[in-house]
Amino acid sequence: MDIKEKIEALRQELREHNHNYYVLDNPVISDYEFDMKLKELRELEAGHPEYYDPTSPTLRVGGDITKSFNTVVHEHRMYSLDNSYSKEDLEDWEKRIQRILGDAEVAFTCELKYDGASISLTYEAGRLVRAVTRGDGFQGDDVTTNIKTIRSIPLQLKGDYPPKFDIRGEIILPLDGFAKMNEDRVAAGEDPYMNPRNTASGSLKLQDSAMVAQRPLDCLLYGIVGPDTGISSQYQMLEKAREWGFKVPSVAKLCKSTDEVMAFIDFWDVQRHSLPYETDGVVVKVNSIQHQEELGYTAKSPRWAMAYKFKAEQVSTILREITYQVGRTGAITPVANLEPVLLAGTTVKRASLHNADQIEKLDVREGDTVFVEKGGEIIPKIVGVDISLRPVNSKPTQYITHCPECGTELVRTAGDAKHYCTNFYGCPTQITGRIQHFISRKAMDIEGLGAETVELLFKEGLIRNYADLYILTKEQVMPLERMAEKSADNLVKGVAASVDIPFERVLFALGIRFVGETVAKKLAKAFKHVDALMAATVEELIAVDEIGERIAHSVVEFFQNERNLENIARLKSYGLQFELSADELLNQTEVLKGKTFVVSGVFESVSRNDLKKMIEDNGGKVGSSISSKTSFLVAGDKMGPSKRTKAETLGVPIISEQDFLGMVN
Ligand code: AMP
Ligand code: ZN
Repeated sequence: MDIKEKIEALRQELREHNHNYYVLDNPVISDYEFDMKLKELRELEAGHPEYYDPTSPTLRVGGDITKSFNTVVHEHRMYSLDNSYSKEDLEDWEKRIQRILGDAEVAFTCELKYDGASISLTYEAGRLVRAVTRGDGFQGDDVTTNIKTIRSIPLQLKGDYPPKFDIRGEIILPLDGFAKMNEDRVAAGEDPYMNPRNTASGSLKLQDSAMVAQRPLDCLLYGIVGPDTGISSQYQMLEKAREWGFKVPSVAKLCKSTDEVMAFIDFWDVQRHSLPYETDGVVVKVNSIQHQEELGYTAKSPRWAMAYKFKAEQVSTILREITYQVGRTGAITPVANLEPVLLAGTTVKRASLHNADQIEKLDVREGDTVFVEKGGEIIPKIVGVDISLRPVNSKPTQYITHCPECGTELVRTAGDAKHYCTNFYGCPTQITGRIQHFISRKAMDIEGLGAETVELLFKEGLIRNYADLYILTKEQVMPLERMAEKSADNLVKGVAASVDIPFERVLFALGIRFVGETVAKKLAKAFKHVDALMAATVEELIAVDEIGERIAHSVVEFFQNERNLENIARLKSYGLQFELSADELLNQTEVLKGKTFVVSGVFESVSRNDLKKMIEDNGGKVGSSISSKTSFLVAGDKMGPSKRTKAETLGVPIISEQDFLGMVN
């Protein structure tokens, strides 16, 4: 086998494994074996840029930036669906159809209605060439770069696909992936996303495709349009799409009568709660394509399809009390404490009210009978009030003006929906919240110490900040409630062991606002030592790839605070890691020290992310835009003309991928 064949064979094999893993949910090799093969392919491709292929499995990590999304006119219009809400609605629809089709026997394909963002994918000669959002149905945005990072979408098809067609589907965020994203956001001190649908559609419009690649997006397909597809029914269409490599849920069913359709609806109205993603109904489609063509379209939707909307799971219950939670950043969240009630299989006692505006909008009051719904949100939400049951002496809710924990007057800055307690260093909940974050699993991961013990230690006056943890003695801890000699010993040992936790996690543990796990990693890599990070200006921080102004200001502010500086000095003296270890530095050189690179375009032998990593590992900095401070512009294929012009006007040297590799090797 020559190199070219070897590369092609590896690509083919990896495509198959991607398909097994992401589409069929049935991997046949371990993640490790997969990574090894991917690495082998990447190395072969690096040595042989002449065999570049835009559909290679090595290109799924993203990295290309879209500054503004081009508008594309859909070759085939993307229609809406008519909605129905009852069996009667559906029977009426069937009668209308039957009138048009005469006495022909009509069958239906029932599918679930996936709740996400619609997408149209264009394939030519079996390759994905374009992905466009629905937009207004006539034209949408070209989001191809972002879509290519979704691994369940095939870049190269298999089997007997037609030469050119569009396929429609829904981009979704599965519930567990969504929950995980929110966990990470909360850990970084940010507000969680509201629901999977909006987050999925927002993801399509992110400028940095590498960020899209990190989100656990998925794509479920349901319709093929185009001439000469050779397809004669909706059901066959789904089967064909599956054969060519697309992810088409297996729950679709061919039904011979409205009774069968109703049975499908009733079944899934209950069972949908056990699906890994959200659905908001069933789509019933006339099965025969010939019938579909006879029926045609109204001004906005096909006559041959009908959506049946599930009723959102909703119950009513009494709101006993509104309480207010204080987060570790001081943000106030109002919480509705409810008369416990059963909803979608779980007992609900609390619901989120989000912020003061939400309470005002709903005019929700203590003692009210409220309607509670459960969607993709982690906690259920209140969607309305049954005014007819409002007690006569009811008064509008007065939002609190002072912190329920420390009495400090709350502030609300323009443009922020939340109220904040600004007593950051005196508010007990904020203090314990910060210590709890510090010890948490992804931060210092201190064994033998939990959230409740932190509260206890604080209440007993044994700790006032996270640095105090390191001077706790067994004798101090032992007398605490539920502590014994063994557990006290474990706690002290757990704290002592945490001094080996690497720098990037220590940085995350400090609890700097907006500095989550990933940002902490970036900062640790870029600055290598906490002293360098402390000395960094906003401009220097922004020069680090993916660090924006909001993060930069937060970092600078954090290191201006006397208490934080004192804590860090103490933690240093206890032996915590405040710089990259020798090991972490090993793969790194200083040959690019003092140089800032801007990277643009597509590269042949390395991914854009790897190239950036090489710059950082060798002491250089990666900048996001060209300025007079830029040392070099590394230009790949398809680099935007504006970048080139800007570099030329500022006299920034433009170098090729090969030039760059020459600098570091
Ligand atoms: P609507 O937005 O309420 O007009 O509903 C139409 C949208 O439902 C389409 O644009 C699709 O994105 C979406 N949809 C979700 N699942 C399906 C499905 N199985 N068949 C057709 N459309 C679907
Ligand atoms: Zn407070």
